[in-house]
Amino acid sequence: MSFTYKRSSSLFNEAQKYIPGGVNSPVRAFNAVGGDPVYVKSAKGAYLHTEDGHQLIDYIASWGPMILGHAFEPVVDAVIEATKKGTSYGMPTELETQIAKLVVSMAPNVDQVRMVNSGTEACMSAVRLARGFTGRDKIIKFAGCYHGHSDSFLIQAGSGAVTFGSPNSPGVTIGTAQDTLLATYNNLDQVAEIFEKNKDQIACVIIEPIAGNMGCIVPQEGFLEGIRELCDANGALFVFDEVMTGFRLARGGAQETTGVKADIITYGKVIGGGLPVGAFAARQEIMNHLAPLGPVYQAGTLSGNPLAMSAGLAMLEHLNDNPDVFVNLAQKTEHLHKGIESVLSTKGIDHQINRCGSMMSVHFTDQPVIDFESAATGNNEWFKKFFHGLLDRGIYLPPSAFESYFLNDALSYEDLDRTVTAVEEVVSKW
Ligand code: PMP
Repeated sequence: MSFTYKRSSSLFNEAQKYIPGGVNSPVRAFNAVGGDPVYVKSAKGAYLHTEDGHQLIDYIASWGPMILGHAFEPVVDAVIEATKKGTSYGMPTELETQIAKLVVSMAPNVDQVRMVNSGTEACMSAVRLARGFTGRDKIIKFAGCYHGHSDSFLIQAGSGAVTFGSPNSPGVTIGTAQDTLLATYNNLDQVAEIFEKNKDQIACVIIEPIAGNMGCIVPQEGFLEGIRELCDANGALFVFDEVMTGFRLARGGAQETTGVKADIITYGKVIGGGLPVGAFAARQEIMNHLAPLGPVYQAGTLSGNPLAMSAGLAMLEHLNDNPDVFVNLAQKTEHLHKGIESVLSTKGIDHQINRCGSMMSVHFTDQPVIDFESAATGNNEWFKKFFHGLLDRGIYLPPSAFESYFLNDALSYEDLDRTVTAVEEVVSKW
């Protein structure tokens, strides 16, 4: 059976008249894989229900947040109850302290957390705080890492910024770009060199501790540890962007799984249970620099919004009480990895599968994928065929090779096996 998406295409045509490119976030437009995007009507558990009447197995989980599957009842109920009490006050609530207390108990090495409305805001604010704390201007980021769309980060950014021809976006001033120093993921010597050449000027190094925006890339042994040492030796802060990995890889995120300590940690996605939430956290000494205590300004009309905090609290409480979720998810991801690997190897198709916890990606290349350059060696024509072949069979992958799959706990082993069978069908025609 081959699925067709006629109604989605017609909705996309209409959308393009009123919304730039028809979408509110670029990767949704399918530019990397061709064709029209799929329109969702509703979602439940591991499945998306499209406007065309199809049920798809979902491997993006809203790009991460829906770790427990869509419309997870405790989260939905919490939002409904909160809504009845008013949707925003712009005043403090007890709920904000409850979720902050839980975040601080789950996340290693942090005393306080500030809530914002997106991962972009979290990373932007974290860097401002690092600059304010150290009194320095420059930051180091890695090619292919994505930290949201604020100006300082749109320098060789990953994710949609790759597809849309503007890893260095027009609109970012030269002055801003000059303060962002670029390094290669998994190349510690280069980071050391940059520190050497910019003595006493680096405020922080920001990194995705497990990268998910050039596909999934894991740090090689000693890489994060080495950056930690360089930061300490040079008086710079180490910022972990855990927007993807936070509350997904483990209760304590990548700090827990890698054992490397960060100074500021940014969160997004899972922390909001699918509502617009981001957060950044650090130890007291750093957070004291933030307004209203200190001079580093940061604010938000809707920050700590009661609906968003209710969803986030219900999500985090469930994860905190059921840490086996992380183990189950990693096992499911391994099962999918092994299944796809076996099919592609049998068929003799060049590929690399990278995996960490419930994140993974398939790259059609014979080279190990360890940084942006090696990720870019992937054969995009094969990726497109792979993506569309699976979509035709009711399976929804991220529509770009520069994205990670995010597995959700509602996926059954039957769903995973169906996916592997579909992969077999797709590549049998190659
Ligand atoms: N950091 C990382 C690691 C991300 O993956 C993303 C989004 N995919 C962001 C920051 C930005 O988050 P948002 O889209 O919520 O602004």
